[in-house]
Amino acid sequence: MKMTKIIAKKRDGETLNAEEIRYWIDGVTKNTIPDYQTSALLMAIYLNGMNDDEAIEMSLAIRDSGDKIDGSLVPGYKVDKHSTGGVGDKTSVIIVPLLAALGAKVAKMSGRGLGHTGGTVDKLESIKGYRTAIEESEFLDIVRNVGCSIIGQSEKLAPADKRLYALRDVTETVANRALIASSIMGKKLTSGANGIVLDVKYGSGSFNKDIKEATALANLMRRIGESGGMEVTTILSDMNVPLGNAIGNSLEIIEACEVLKGRGPEDLKEECVRLAVAMADLAFPADKGHNEDKVRRALADGTAFAKFKEMCAAHGGDTRLLDDYTLFKQPAYQYEIRAPWSGKIVACNTSGYGYASLALGAGRNTKEDAVDPSAGLLLHKKVGDTVAVGDVIATAYSDKAESFADAQRILEKVTFVDE
Ligand code: URA
Repeated sequence: MKMTKIIAKKRDGETLNAEEIRYWIDGVTKNTIPDYQTSALLMAIYLNGMNDDEAIEMSLAIRDSGDKIDGSLVPGYKVDKHSTGGVGDKTSVIIVPLLAALGAKVAKMSGRGLGHTGGTVDKLESIKGYRTAIEESEFLDIVRNVGCSIIGQSEKLAPADKRLYALRDVTETVANRALIASSIMGKKLTSGANGIVLDVKYGSGSFNKDIKEATALANLMRRIGESGGMEVTTILSDMNVPLGNAIGNSLEIIEACEVLKGRGPEDLKEECVRLAVAMADLAFPADKGHNEDKVRRALADGTAFAKFKEMCAAHGGDTRLLDDYTLFKQPAYQYEIRAPWSGKIVACNTSGYGYASLALGAGRNTKEDAVDPSAGLLLHKKVGDTVAVGDVIATAYSDKAESFADAQRILEKVTFVDE
């Protein structure tokens, strides 16, 4: 088989067959196909798309490019969750121990933040000592003994995706439905889970700008998951407003702890309940109709928080921080961002809040950047609130006092007020 023929076929808008897709992904995995040919094919796919059968085959080939976790080593129903990323989305930190508190097994691999979106691994690493890179055997031991574990993506699983993603990143070919779906699901199909809830975001803080795009992505990811033998539930969620009030790593862990203690912002709590019920319905189908009560009880009575502490301890995390937030690394400076306008906040460009938090040091522009665990924003006014000139709309935290002017400028620009 010739790679040039495969590239020409896709360039001309034709459909690739399973053999051609497998040949390509195998070559990517073994490094026998040069990056310039893969880049050319990625661009052809970006421009001409892939049909569902091609995307399914590509996902299964990515799944098969490395090791797979043997789910049978952990007894019980293993339920996973994936969110397509947003701003202030700390739901995994809450839902994973919550489901374990109900008796499900959750073995979750998460990502780091990049650009304006945060990543669960960075958030957990703000807890002193928490190890996100552990051997698979320890990961599975923790899931068996505690019920849940969250770690970073293993290098041994779906290695083809790592190479493809690195090329997509530098060739402007990330934002394509088939490529996104096969990248996410190729990895998820290695996790050994029996079922998964896919939380597909839409709106100004997401890469799906409207609900139609998000629906098409969710449907494709569902088909891929089912083709790989997983039960799949898809949920569409609104990312037109940041989730909760905290954006930034330790700030988000603190807010997650508040929800796990039965408190916290209402929007975040309700989103967590919605996702957790969907996961519980997969894990405990006989309890459908009662799962919402069980989820709410586990948040209210402290069992979900106790499970989170147990998980953190198993990962080497200092659990004293979870009760005494002053023990988190503290930022050198804080600054009150005040409204230059008055009126009702009617909308916001949510990704702008992510960029403001990035400017403060909470995120990274390249994969190699270090993050400041204490940097970020605490929002005091959100869409629907009324503000007067001079009201504090957010508190910014950073070790770089010079970044506050950027954060102020971004927030003024991305918050839309009906004066
Ligand atoms: N997350 C992934 O893992 N892959 C993509 O392509 C986009 C988001």
